[in-house]
Amino acid sequence: EMTQAYLDRIAKYDGKINAYRETYDERALERAKLVDEGKIEGPLAGVPIAIKDLMCTEYGKTCCSSKMLAKFEAFYNSTAVKRLEDAGAIVLGKTNMDEFAMGSSTETCAFGATKNPWDTDYVPGGSSGGAAAAMAADFCAGSLGSDTGGSIRQPASLCGVTGLKPTYGRVSRWGLVAFASSLDQIGPFGHSVKDCATLLKYMGGHDELDSTSANIAIPEDLDDVDTKPKKLRIGIAKQYMSDEANDPAVASALVKAIEIYKAAGAEIVEVDLPHTEYGIPVYYIVATAEASSNLARYDGVHYGHRTQTPDDLVDLYARSRAEGFGDEVKRRIMLGTYALSSGYYDAYYNRSLKVRRLISNDFKTAFESCDAILCPTTTGPAFKLGEKKDDPLSMYLNDIYTVTANLAGIPGISMPAGTAEVDGKQMPIGMQLLGPAFEETSLLRIARIYE
Ligand code: GLN
Repeated sequence: EMTQAYLDRIAKYDGKINAYRETYDERALERAKLVDEGKIEGPLAGVPIAIKDLMCTEYGKTCCSSKMLAKFEAFYNSTAVKRLEDAGAIVLGKTNMDEFAMGSSTETCAFGATKNPWDTDYVPGGSSGGAAAAMAADFCAGSLGSDTGGSIRQPASLCGVTGLKPTYGRVSRWGLVAFASSLDQIGPFGHSVKDCATLLKYMGGHDELDSTSANIAIPEDLDDVDTKPKKLRIGIAKQYMSDEANDPAVASALVKAIEIYKAAGAEIVEVDLPHTEYGIPVYYIVATAEASSNLARYDGVHYGHRTQTPDDLVDLYARSRAEGFGDEVKRRIMLGTYALSSGYYDAYYNRSLKVRRLISNDFKTAFESCDAILCPTTTGPAFKLGEKKDDPLSMYLNDIYTVTANLAGIPGISMPAGTAEVDGKQMPIGMQLLGPAFEETSLLRIARIYE
């Protein structure tokens, strides 16, 4: 009944939102029946979920919202999805995203933008905008996104749901279409901290198929979020407190959050993250460099779109890529190729790796005196569809509070923090908590206090 109810709701309302790229009605209902009959069991038996359109499944298509992969059918399941299905979850469908996960608004998709369910004139954030919108519109009970520079936390914030980016290496990337391999991480969206903890518990952990997945077991009590955290020292970094950058509603939500922690007995400590200002430039060098390399595989021969009647092999490569990729993806490939080219490699790529280390060290030092850092997820609420589409730089700057966690590999969670006024309407904003690597159990417990 629950699976049917979600599918009915999607059929009725998703025309307005475009959260899903495709649904698997027949397969989902078949699995739901098996749950009813007791033939599928497990801790998530019968829980209907949605997955971002860049996680391979042996059913349906995996398009990454790109013309390049419009017809791509994978022949294996990504580990994260497989583990959730093994635990009994039911995949309702794949959700829309920015093409190859490059973007912050879910507008760079080849198959139309996703709209924010709170107000369809606004973006849902991105790149996992479809997965976040599916949660906000009540089109699933939980969903999976990927976060390379904020793509789970930022849309969670703009759609008023909870989203968790786990530690790099916590969830296997096997079967996740690569954007920037040293930053990409799969994570859950939920209606609560507990939802996110539960999904992470069953999809995370070591996987032989991904050599970067950490050989660290998921703690048995990861989803026991109501237990009081052992230590409660909340770090506040002045770099995230700028009244100039933050919307007044974000600034007051932050003050309120500090009060909530104080009332819970937390010690509030000031921490310094001096290299925060380099987060955006470093991220957009590292991410584009890795993307340019990862996306070299789409050559019209191995995968994806192939142009018709090419003149020769070079023309086959060039035209297949020109036709298959959208503007933002091309921009990133060019930026990344430039940063990696001989003569510029040391000045851009190599230098950005050094600053990445400094950013990571900032967090290590900060976590010597606190257990989690409290900060906004975004500077303000959602912007209008089309508003930033032709201004890539302003779109990139939008990621200022999220990219450093990916550069450092640490976990971060975004939780609903009330609303801010935009054009006379109230739209959601989010509050973020960042924690030390592999300390999700403590991070989730600390998050639960705020929720
Ligand atoms: N908005 C960022 C970008 O465009 C982050 C994307 C992501 O996390 N996948 O790269």
